[in-house]
Amino acid sequence: MKTSSAFFCAVIAAALAGCNSEHSDEQPLWTPLASVTVDSGSGTTAAVEVPLHNLRRALRVSAQPQGCLQVSSAISVSGGQLVANPAVSDANTWRTTKLYQAGLLVLEGVASELTHISFAAVACDASVSGMQPTSVRVESRLSELPTNPGLKLRLLLSQTISAELDTELLAQLIGFELQLDIAITDVAVIADTDLVMQHQADFSPLAAILASQPAKAEDIIDVVIGPCLLQQTPFGRQQLAGFTPRIPGGAGPADGVFVARTNCGFAAASAGSVNELARLAAHEIGHYLGLAHPEEADGSEDDLASTNSHNLMHRVPLAATASGLTFEQRERILAHPFVTEL
Ligand SMILES: [Zn+2]
Repeated sequence: MKTSSAFFCAVIAAALAGCNSEHSDEQPLWTPLASVTVDSGSGTTAAVEVPLHNLRRALRVSAQPQGCLQVSSAISVSGGQLVANPAVSDANTWRTTKLYQAGLLVLEGVASELTHISFAAVACDASVSGMQPTSVRVESRLSELPTNPGLKLRLLLSQTISAELDTELLAQLIGFELQLDIAITDVAVIADTDLVMQHQADFSPLAAILASQPAKAEDIIDVVIGPCLLQQTPFGRQQLAGFTPRIPGGAGPADGVFVARTNCGFAAASAGSVNELARLAAHEIGHYLGLAHPEEADGSEDDLASTNSHNLMHRVPLAATASGLTFEQRERILAHPFVTEL
């Protein structure tokens, strides 16, 4: 089936500094926690204290003046180290991914006990030389768990897709998969032009699309559907079915989710049924809210005990034999601060 074509969902950071200034009364503001310097010898920062709280906690981390970061140490209230030792992978470690310029960290699961966090300056990509950050800014956000959890989405649809797509049905189907109320705040039409990433961390064509749109509230998630996604690899151009720059999303360049129409590379096929596009979009939104694939092609598994490969987060979502999420996956997405009362 055509879904065996390459499906890529990146575990990559993203973050567009700059268009987060809007907020409504019910959204708590980001509170500055600390700005710490990167030690030129060790390449890491001092620990930032993160106060414990009963509310949902999230951190927004920014590299200054630019570059990439990785969480190097995360200490829990009981004094344990939470970040994974690469040699050990179990449910007691907190998996975090590289932060490209900026990123959002959701303190749920084992990370709900985090009290101190440090960062290391790292190269953004082996094939790209660039400036490494000299300091790190950390902000905190506390938010209530919503009674009726929902998501606000802005749809950016390519011309071909927008002509055919029933957006109300799309929203219903996405909400069914994620068990969240969905509000479409706006629908915009964009060109069908292919998006070509020159390497795995080349977010520029994706960021350009989002930058062409009016400013929006931070917790409205941009969902781009339609343009074909191509990624340059050492073996040639790879066709992607979807792409989410960072798990979880919420800050950084190209902060949104991207879904290609399903006939990219298949000229005779249809542009994709609303069912297929909704499943692909829900899957990418799942990544944005913090979910990894239960099982990768190399056999490695996510850190949740309850997942099996056949649900919404299957690495080839259209090939999964079941829909929806497990209880643990749902707990994880509910911790993301952009899941709000509509
Ligand atoms: Zn995926």
